[in-house]
Amino acid sequence: MEIIVQKFGGSSVADAGKIRNVAKRVVRTHEAGHPVVVVVSAMGDTTDRLTQLAGEISANPPERELDMLLSTGEQVSIALLAMAVSELGYQAISLTGTQVGIMTDGFYSNARIKSINEARILSELDQGKIVILAGFQGVTIDNEITTLGRGASDTTAVAIAATLGADRCDIYTDVDGVYTADPCIVPNARKLNQITYDEMLEMARLGARVLHSRSVELAKKFNVHLCVRSSFSEAEGTIVVKEQEMIEEVVVSGVTSDKDQAKVSLLGVPDKPGIAARIFQELADAGINIDMIIQNASQQGATDISFTVTKKDLDTTLKTTEQLKTKIGCQSISTDHNIGKISAVGIGMKSHTGIAARMFRALADEGINIQMISTSEIKISCVIDEEQTERAVRAVHDKFELGGASS
Ligand code: ADP
Ligand code: ASP
Ligand code: MG
Repeated sequence: MEIIVQKFGGSSVADAGKIRNVAKRVVRTHEAGHPVVVVVSAMGDTTDRLTQLAGEISANPPERELDMLLSTGEQVSIALLAMAVSELGYQAISLTGTQVGIMTDGFYSNARIKSINEARILSELDQGKIVILAGFQGVTIDNEITTLGRGASDTTAVAIAATLGADRCDIYTDVDGVYTADPCIVPNARKLNQITYDEMLEMARLGARVLHSRSVELAKKFNVHLCVRSSFSEAEGTIVVKEQEMIEEVVVSGVTSDKDQAKVSLLGVPDKPGIAARIFQELADAGINIDMIIQNASQQGATDISFTVTKKDLDTTLKTTEQLKTKIGCQSISTDHNIGKISAVGIGMKSHTGIAARMFRALADEGINIQMISTSEIKISCVIDEEQTERAVRAVHDKFELGGASS
């Protein structure tokens, strides 16, 4: 029988009762004859609480120590789940990232998995045990503990499934699949039975936190059979499929939003060759990821350049641009923290026209001003005022008639 990887998120293991439920579910799969590898997140909002605690001790905690702290959350949940499985009369073993050999690079808080040593997992499975692994964590070659980024237990699960050549990787969470929009924002959002890897990747990158974006990247690369489903019901989930396996092609599959963005504008920049190259090279050297960029039409030899970064990168961005200001002859720098990005995603955009116009119309009818726009083959994103984000998501969702009658 092929291995099945099951991942349970924080809300699925939030208290002892829920952990017992997860244990029952895992045992059922084991009973059906599958070797089961379980990947677990920290209980409930543990990671948030640990982050907050670190903040009470230090405004700028050493990154090594922060990873050391945050990784403890998952160690608690794997041990408790292993105990719950034993209580049901089955053998289980919990293992940390270090014990399994989830080897990563040394970028604390956002480390990347380089390799996984499957020997220990396979030997425990051979002994008939249910293997319970800590998500979100790894270890460097120098034996330092790292974490993989917020929400990255999904990525641990998919990486394990790819390494073991698992039959499937099921992501159990507090919703019963991927919806046309975050059901917390759009009450009539509809569950999708299928979504393509590319659409899911865009949606995850653009704010749909139901899957960590690197997990989708890995699933696509290694062809992992990925499914999102509910921990609390037996409902069929959403399967992530290749484009050619998609039964029904829709123009827009989902609408997402992201409030973790800030806009920086360099005003009165000389409009001559090499200026943009210099600005964005310095930002790249400082490790800043730029999202959207807009350059205005030039007036009297000067122009304005605006771009967006994540809120956590804003301080470094401002330090870097302040240093550049006099060197490039920029008149002033302004920032806006209060922006939101909303996006419509769908592979049908490749073959349909007028999608952007429809999205802009939905925003216009709500009196929402668009500050920036970016497009790719399968998505359109607009930056708007942060306060209007939820209203904008609902308006665009309605405009594309994505809502279902139920839920
Ligand atoms: P877990 O703790 O299980 O990893 P997350 O909180 O990371 O769960 O992800 C699940 C949440 O993602 C849901 O509760 C939902 O509010 C949110 N979400 C955002 N966009 C979507 C979407 N398009 N479809 C489903 N859920 C979404
Ligand atoms: N516990 C980690 C977090 O809250 C990882 C995860 O839940 O996927 O970000
Ligand atoms: Mg998650």
